[in-house]
Amino acid sequence: MLTAIVGINWGDEGKGRMVDLLSEGYDIICRYQGGNNAGHTVVNEKGKFILNLLPSGILRDGVVNIMGNGMVIDLEHLCGEIEKLSEKGVIVTPENLKISEKAFICMPYHKQQDILEEDRLGDLKYGSTRRGISPVYGDKYMKKGIRMLDLFSSSLEQKLKDILEWKSMVLKGYGAENAKVSDILSWLKKFGDKLLPFIADTTDYLNKSANAGKNVLFEAQLGALRDIDYGIYPYTTSSQTLAAYAPIGAGIPGKKINTVIGVMKAYSSCVGEGPFAVEMFGDEGSALRESGAEYGAATGRPRRVGAFDIPASRYGVMTQGADEIALTKLDVLSFMDKIPVCTAYEIDGERNAQFPSGDRLNRVKPVYEYMEGFKTDISKCRKAGDLPEAAVKYIRFIENAVGCPIRYVSVGAGRDEYLKMA
Ligand code: GDP
Ligand code: MG
Repeated sequence: MLTAIVGINWGDEGKGRMVDLLSEGYDIICRYQGGNNAGHTVVNEKGKFILNLLPSGILRDGVVNIMGNGMVIDLEHLCGEIEKLSEKGVIVTPENLKISEKAFICMPYHKQQDILEEDRLGDLKYGSTRRGISPVYGDKYMKKGIRMLDLFSSSLEQKLKDILEWKSMVLKGYGAENAKVSDILSWLKKFGDKLLPFIADTTDYLNKSANAGKNVLFEAQLGALRDIDYGIYPYTTSSQTLAAYAPIGAGIPGKKINTVIGVMKAYSSCVGEGPFAVEMFGDEGSALRESGAEYGAATGRPRRVGAFDIPASRYGVMTQGADEIALTKLDVLSFMDKIPVCTAYEIDGERNAQFPSGDRLNRVKPVYEYMEGFKTDISKCRKAGDLPEAAVKYIRFIENAVGCPIRYVSVGAGRDEYLKMA
């Protein structure tokens, strides 16, 4: 069985915690896109972890984790992440981690270029995490990338020289120093050598595993609205966050995914820049941010927060092709007397149920309805029957509005703090 766990909204929906929970029924967990701009939080019996590059299955014994060819990997960051885990007793070995030989390396000059460009943009910035993600994907498509398999190549130095000659023209435009070949080579050697045992032909491995009937779970980074093609471009990430991309980015092209689980938050949050129609400000925003502890897992940035957004979430469900939903962080809304829900968008005086793009998105005025608050601690609820009636009404209302069954509801960050809906 092949299943994808993906984000319905702007990211940070709680994908990491759902992968950790559901990984029990799977043999293999694959991350298929993105880099260390991700922050996936997992809280279980081993402790609290924030994973940037490693798949969230790394905390489950007996599961094989794959970093797919669709990912971009900062070698230094990955070595640090593996070391931090080992300090907490989670040992990463070539048996429980395999890195695609075709994944791209996020180089120090990518990070440098990302920072230079965000600084140049000033107030018009895209909200980059400044970790080199957009330059490394840009170079991939310009065919100027260096991949994990190049670490084994005798022509690595020559390849690097050629690329740096080209890259220096870009960096000079910013008045920046050009990176030295020798410095980059020693960085590649220092961190790359440690990772060599993990590098594998993951396409071969995954295909053989799937043909042998193994269960594979694909883990996405960010959400539908940050997809480079279908999201709020240019305030998107630089990769495909959609389930449709999972087999390609993981390394198992041509295989059909059986189930897509969309992770959707009970309210909205958005980290970084870009149009966010339902944003709450002032005390209202602070109260929700504090209740949900909405600070970036990778960056610590305060996240913008707002009401549940039906037009955006329905669009997320459609573009992800979600079969079922995991609704997360419902407990966070316990403090509200009335729960606002954005049911439609008004654009230029007209009601619009669809999710628009481009300039029209900037002109959206959200239309709200208010649901009765549940005003009680629901974090100990473990089955649908334990929930107060107002909470069930809220769940059914948004389930109906987005047109996809809500199968799981989480009421706390811990692995077992969730319930299944009938
Ligand atoms: P991801 O990027 O989609 O994996 O999500 P993040 O880890 O960035 O953000 C989700 C945050 O919410 C993390 O801090 C989780 O520990 C926390 N979290 C997950 N599920 C719940 C829940 O049901 N209730 C509460 N209160 N927190 C949750
Ligand atoms: Mg996150």
